[in-house]
Amino acid sequence: MKITQLAHLIDAKTCPRLVVKVGSALLVGKDGEPRREWLTALVAEIAAARAAGQEVIVVSSGAIALGARKLALAKGGRGSLSDAQAAASVGQIALAGLWAELLGLHGLTAAQILLTLEDLEDRRRYLNATATLGTLLAAGAVPVINENDSVATQEIRFGDNDRLAARVGQAAGASGVLLLSDIDGLYDRDPRQPGALRIPVVRGVTPEIHAMATGGSSSGLGSGGMTSKLQAAEIAELAGMALAIIDGQPVSPIGTAITADRGTLFLPRGRKQARKAWLGGRMRMRGAVHVDAGAAAALERGSSLLAAGITGVDGDFQRGDAIAVIGPDGQTLARGLSEYHAAECKVLKGHHSREHEALLGYAPRSALIHRDQMVLL
Ligand code: GLU
Repeated sequence: MKITQLAHLIDAKTCPRLVVKVGSALLVGKDGEPRREWLTALVAEIAAARAAGQEVIVVSSGAIALGARKLALAKGGRGSLSDAQAAASVGQIALAGLWAELLGLHGLTAAQILLTLEDLEDRRRYLNATATLGTLLAAGAVPVINENDSVATQEIRFGDNDRLAARVGQAAGASGVLLLSDIDGLYDRDPRQPGALRIPVVRGVTPEIHAMATGGSSSGLGSGGMTSKLQAAEIAELAGMALAIIDGQPVSPIGTAITADRGTLFLPRGRKQARKAWLGGRMRMRGAVHVDAGAAAALERGSSLLAAGITGVDGDFQRGDAIAVIGPDGQTLARGLSEYHAAECKVLKGHHSREHEALLGYAPRSALIHRDQMVLL
């Protein structure tokens, strides 16, 4: 059964596994203290979902905000990376303790997992996270996940928990992701403008949809803002998951949004093969190849990428690394795992396959990116 409306996200039949993402502003008050009453009501909603047979994974922010107060750091602990890392080390203990305590009141066991971007971009570690999440859920626990802010430097950071939530949902094979935000969905323009309309359902995160978020990004939405929420929606879409943005502010926010049918629901595309979905959701590419119009058309028809259609090579990638395929108009057409390292790609670029053996001095591979190792965007 497919998810076509908000209410399907809380139905164990249409959505057996759900990720609920909670941002710092909802969890931590302006005084730096946890908002216990609000969280208690949310945990009751999660416990009810579990009791009705739905598996729930929580992605929770709030470590930096909680820790900054304890360490008396300026700017809410976000003045520098080292401040944020120190604050997170302190705050994460409080955050995990809070979830464990409140879930415990319902007889539920909380399980903490701290991840960095790299943990989910490396295929082996990604599969490891998948296995751990599966085991925890089967054992009845509620995984509570955050970014491992204390060790994550700029290069290996998600930076926001929206994308983390989508990647976690994908790793867990979830059917849906619910982002509790400070706004009740995506608006067609800056929501503060008169006449701004909420979009109830989005079919495909198109350039027009992105344009709406840019208009609304100045509205002070969470740490990632609407842009990171749309990136999360793209990851979800490629992974065959539904994703919704709802207003997290009311007490019992999930029930409130479902009853009022208020939010923005991003519909999933058909589920891709797991490996392709993982590839499509990857956020960091090691390099890129540029292709001509002929190669771009061949990719659309489902062919592998051949060196003859390559016009340029960027980056210093190795064989097996994820790279982007960029069309003549500068748009990224696909992502895939390269069969060659960057230097070999440069040698082969523009050359027909029959010339490859002579150019390389060894037996060539059948394609630069095989169709099975590529996902079209
Ligand atoms: N992981 C950060 C924290 O726990 C917050 C990231 C975000 O706000 O999205 O404080």
